[in-house]
Amino acid sequence: MRRHNLALVLRAIVERGPVSRAAVAAYVGLTKATVSSIVEELLVAGFVAEVGRENRGEAGRPGTVLAANPNGPVGVGLEINVDYIAVCLVDLAGEVRRVDVRRGDNRELPRGDVLRIAAELVATTLVNARTAGLKPLGLAVALPGLVDEPSGMLIVAPNLGWRDLDVPGALRAAGLSAAAAELPIAVGNEANFAAIGELWYGHGPELGDFVHVTGETGIGAGLVVGRRLFGGAHGYAGELGHVTVEPDGPGCGCGARGCLEAYAGQEVLARAAGLSGVTGTSVGNPDGLGALIEAAAAAGQPEVLAALRRAGWALGVALTDVVHLLDPDAVVLAGLCARLAAWLVPELRAQLTARTIGGVPPRTRVEVSQLGPYGALRGAAGSVVMTLLANPMAEVA
Ligand SMILES: [Zn+2]
Repeated sequence: MRRHNLALVLRAIVERGPVSRAAVAAYVGLTKATVSSIVEELLVAGFVAEVGRENRGEAGRPGTVLAANPNGPVGVGLEINVDYIAVCLVDLAGEVRRVDVRRGDNRELPRGDVLRIAAELVATTLVNARTAGLKPLGLAVALPGLVDEPSGMLIVAPNLGWRDLDVPGALRAAGLSAAAAELPIAVGNEANFAAIGELWYGHGPELGDFVHVTGETGIGAGLVVGRRLFGGAHGYAGELGHVTVEPDGPGCGCGARGCLEAYAGQEVLARAAGLSGVTGTSVGNPDGLGALIEAAAAAGQPEVLAALRRAGWALGVALTDVVHLLDPDAVVLAGLCARLAAWLVPELRAQLTARTIGGVPPRTRVEVSQLGPYGALRGAAGSVVMTLLANPMAEVA
């Protein structure tokens, strides 16, 4: 009971702050005395803070108001991708407090070197967090590949060329600082973390059940059902990039043929647009492929427009299967798919309308994420925060 009430009161303060004890009591349906004693515990733990006095415009002493402690706990997110490593801090209110990025092609470096750079970046961020008075709670690592979440094992990350890696162990061995090494370390797939980022910090509250499609080098999806990530029996759900669009289509990096990624992956679009020799993600190289494809499309270059129409067609074909299987409220385009949405969505919608059963305009909405290129990183850091919000007693007891 205490555990449940602690979480209830903390959540109310985080979501509604600045808010008085009386207002929290009314909101959560507990007595003011109970709320006051829980608030004491949360103040001592440093999760919430008194941030001022309420102005009720009445006579009498105004009560103090509470909010998530701006100098309190933060989740630490680490993303290792093909051409960048990034670390961020997210506080209890969901605000991004700091982002550190190290650009450079990780495919050209030995794995140990990449992990060492990542460990150094985490250490730097943690030093800065402490200087700013923040308290890191845990580290969540987002990777572009299949991850066995319970063990933290990366099974394979094709675009990085990595396989069979004990990620927490390897990061600790690569020289995580003492402060970082004592944090709990969780590991997950970047597309799943991006979907979580959307759920908590993006369009989430209005979306209902949704399929979150992220495209950069590859294409992945995160499925959110009942406001929870659906990872599948083994955590591998959402490999949308390898859904078959045409059984005899072009070869894909995974070894199969005609996968969505072979039509709508970034490198494929670039080749079709005649932009060979330029690589990079929106984070690793902000002026790279994504920017060039967007500029060429905006300038009306016919090869680029044709490649984007074909990519939109392939997305529509693949997503029709998803809609038939899951009947989601929405499909959300993120990453490069969000950046190029103006050119992808018309054909995507046309395919959904033409192919979904009954031929009626599909009930599933197509939305575009506003989170930008750091959605997965923010979702990773946010997952640490959400673990605390779900069970604050684990940290105060
Ligand atoms: Zn494939």
